Amino acid sequence: MLLRHTPKQITERQALTINPAKTCQPVGAMYAALGIHRCMPHSHGSQGCCAYHRSSLTRHYNDPIISGTSSFSEGASVFGGQANLLEAFVNIFSLYNPDIIAVNTTCLSEVIGDDLTQMIRKGYDENKIPAGKIVIHANTPSFTGSHVTGFANMTRAMVKYFAKSGGKGKNGTVNLIPSFIEPSDMEEIKRLAHEMDVRFIMYPDTCGVVNSPLDGRYRLYPNGGCRKEQIIASGDSHTTLALGHLGAQPAATLLDTQCKVPFETIDLPIGIAATDRFIETLRNVAGVSVTETIQQERGQFVDALCDMAQYTYGKKVSLVGDPDILVPMAEFCSSIGMKVLHAVTGTPPAKYPFEERIKAVAGEHVIVKAGQQSDMFLFHQLLQNDKPDILMGNTYCKYIARDMDIPLLRIGFPIYDRIGHSYEPVMGYKGGLSLFIKLLNTLMDRIDRDAEEENFELIM
Ligand code: SF4
Repeated sequence: MLLRHTPKQITERQALTINPAKTCQPVGAMYAALGIHRCMPHSHGSQGCCAYHRSSLTRHYNDPIISGTSSFSEGASVFGGQANLLEAFVNIFSLYNPDIIAVNTTCLSEVIGDDLTQMIRKGYDENKIPAGKIVIHANTPSFTGSHVTGFANMTRAMVKYFAKSGGKGKNGTVNLIPSFIEPSDMEEIKRLAHEMDVRFIMYPDTCGVVNSPLDGRYRLYPNGGCRKEQIIASGDSHTTLALGHLGAQPAATLLDTQCKVPFETIDLPIGIAATDRFIETLRNVAGVSVTETIQQERGQFVDALCDMAQYTYGKKVSLVGDPDILVPMAEFCSSIGMKVLHAVTGTPPAKYPFEERIKAVAGEHVIVKAGQQSDMFLFHQLLQNDKPDILMGNTYCKYIARDMDIPLLRIGFPIYDRIGHSYEPVMGYKGGLSLFIKLLNTLMDRIDRDAEEENFELIM
């Protein structure tokens, strides 16, 4: 067994990371860039980095993920990647004709110190970027942060390059900026906003891009994604709702500074309480009412929770993933009577009080670990010291789950060995119900598997 040798005894580590509980910044930046219509992500670094970023996203979404690369070799690694990038602009625009190229840096180009602002300006000056085409960039050094930071940095770049105030005052539109979440969840958030008749702009918006339909015709640029004009217009919106403190708030903050659009940051709508807060905030800022349909969806969710509370009550759960997801997920688990034992993330929380938030929603007893050394190795050790009834985390948890014979519910990024995450939301009331059903079925399958002959019941 792969992880058989993980010792139970925990030794404090200062520098070493073993099996990180995160992935690298450009993966998040590339994912965010795909959320703009007709945008080609571009990785400014080696081909190996780009291949890794693309394959991570391709395997998670089971869809082709497009991206260019500056293809650094020895020369670019020593002298910088300007020549490669300028050539890439010419090739990409002439061969693939995107409206926008969104460049993310990598560890290598950051260590060299490539000045992307200057290089892009040179691209315009030397007509390597055709008239009417746009290049934006985000610095995404992967030796800090994680895919969530990269997503936040690229979303912030969208604001920096596009958002403008038209000077005619604010209109009634609400900006919805999500953290690194599935296209299915973006779609569900948009559905709820539509249902309440809210005028909104969402970006990034990867729905219809990384989960686009198969209709016999390959489209390099699928129909989904936020239009550039909408991002420009977001500077005239009335308010921004940042859905996630680490993945969404940086863009909302810049939009406030740049275009004076005030913002509120709230948790992602996972579970009853967080979805209630989302609906209530949206209702307040947009001045709309909660519809009968939404109330019915909430009622069905509550009904299912009440009907099946005995199967989740007292069950111990350990969580690993991204901070913006873990906080409302811990709150949801706690609200259905589960005891959260651990919350571990490889994403450094910076100034966000991640530990305090987790403890506030799930109790002081929760062991919370965040940052570079809060890796899958540590997570495994923590579980050996206090074994939960269920794990919630990404595909990499399967090794731990197998080693310790713990049921696993796959949530977060990446998920390589199951499908459904790009189509079935876990957010909102409907998504929450679907999440609860998955959780319940995972627990009930285990009860059935472990039941003695005399206790193996048709009705549980
Ligand atoms: S961690 Fe750095 S070197 Fe590794 S794939 Fe990511 S950007 Fe490239």
